[in-house]
Amino acid sequence: MKNTILKQILNETKVKNVTLVAVSKTKPADAILEIYEQGHFIFGENKVQELVEKYELLPKNIEWHLIGHLQTNKVKYIAAFVRCIHSVDSLKLLAEINRQAAKYNRVIDCFLQMKIAKEDTKFGLSEEDAVALLEDESLKTFENVRITGVMGMATFTDEQEQVRQEFRKLKFIFENLKQKYFSEKPFFKEISMGMSDDYPIAIEEGSTMVRIGSLLFGSRK
Ligand SMILES: *Cc1c(COP(=O)(O)O)cnc(C)c1O
Repeated sequence: MKNTILKQILNETKVKNVTLVAVSKTKPADAILEIYEQGHFIFGENKVQELVEKYELLPKNIEWHLIGHLQTNKVKYIAAFVRCIHSVDSLKLLAEINRQAAKYNRVIDCFLQMKIAKEDTKFGLSEEDAVALLEDESLKTFENVRITGVMGMATFTDEQEQVRQEFRKLKFIFENLKQKYFSEKPFFKEISMGMSDDYPIAIEEGSTMVRIGSLLFGSRK
């Protein structure tokens, strides 16, 4: 039955040109393989140690995304293989990702995590913070990271209209940053927003990448 859900989500996302990141946190390697065998290769994890363990166990053509908060001192464990980091929230972190990626001669795609929710518990940059980061001179010297988009999480609430407004805000910030800093950089194109409960709204509001866990894998304990 999981296959049916995967197919349904893939149908919904493909027609809109939206990428599905299957969020496998807390789920065993077997559960990931089950989806992998259906032909889906993009998975997201929120913890470094769990990501490393699963990377080692699972097929090497999986495209791994780190979606959770990342501490600077842990970048070194994932720099050899991680495709994309959704949770960049400081220049210091970006500098460290660049430094570690350089050791492997890689370029890691990074999203700026923006704070769009009303709750204070969420990590993320304000638009002002993002501007300061993008205007920092040191950015020009970073050859092993590429800022390819923004990420945000809406407030955990049943108020659909609030969720919609928060996603709309992220799209608006994305457009501002694109116009100001990336107008000649077509690789800046991703808006990572939408999870199991709110991805249809996120897609309506312009998401290009949804991060879906419990809907695909079943609820987490
Ligand atoms: C867990 C998680 C998700 C997926 O959440 P679901 O509600 O299970 O779809 C998406 N993004 C981030 C950052 C997460 O930590």
